[in-house]
Amino acid sequence: MRLANISDRLSLITHAGMVVDVSQATGGRISPGVQECYDRWEEVLDVAGSLEDDGGRPLADVPQRHVGSPAPRPRQVFAIGLNYAAHAAEAALEVPQELTVFTKFVSALTGPYGAIALPQGTVDWEIELVVVIGRGGQSISPDNAWRHVAGVTAGQDLSERTRQSAGPAPQYSLAKSYPGFGPMGPLLVTPDEFENPDAIELGCAINGEPVQAGNTVDMVFPVPEIIARLSAVTPLLPGDVIFTGTPPGVGAGRVPQRFLHDGDELVSYVRGVGEMRHRMHQRD
Ligand code: ZN
Repeated sequence: MRLANISDRLSLITHAGMVVDVSQATGGRISPGVQECYDRWEEVLDVAGSLEDDGGRPLADVPQRHVGSPAPRPRQVFAIGLNYAAHAAEAALEVPQELTVFTKFVSALTGPYGAIALPQGTVDWEIELVVVIGRGGQSISPDNAWRHVAGVTAGQDLSERTRQSAGPAPQYSLAKSYPGFGPMGPLLVTPDEFENPDAIELGCAINGEPVQAGNTVDMVFPVPEIIARLSAVTPLLPGDVIFTGTPPGVGAGRVPQRFLHDGDELVSYVRGVGEMRHRMHQRD
């Protein structure tokens, strides 16, 4: 099943590419709120699944500015660092033995299309598979972990590297939380839609030039392991968001280094989820 946030309303995207407003189509049985849907995820799955043939309007006719993040206001956002060996190598850091975790503050989250303001400094790209939790839990075993996932989407873990490396310890959370630094979307796709949810292609391009291309099969800690290790410490709540780490090809790892500039268009994709498109503009 594929869902989206269209004008702040939970919408089913049918396999024919039509948009069905879930609240309207169910006579209000499911409330329109997108973030709230994860609190009743089993029911949403059940009901939305029956709307596949409900008609609707073509997704292609929906203006991009109406498409929002599929998890716009999670209670918790987790992000995993150095989760691909080749990315750890380009960052000149060791492949971690323990899960490396930081947050992106919720105010940084935004939708899959539009403009992103660049602060002063060196802003880098990081395409990531983003997982949204459906059924919460604590001490979840890896074998059960995918059953706790509502779906996956594409995300960019935009990072201002100068602030990130200022000070005696990395400032991941703050330097990755400028407004707009956590775009997500365009669709939330349930794990059963993938032939193998542990092997999903992802990548991004700047002004048409590919800069990252990877596959989640190369993760150091695959999604089930991330969920098990996070939930061993802290409960995962419905609607929580996990940025799962980036494959190699970031700007800071290049010789010479390269960062985002005014006017650049960043196109990011996760195969099976779709494409995000953002234009960078320099903040005064
Ligand atoms: Zn990242």
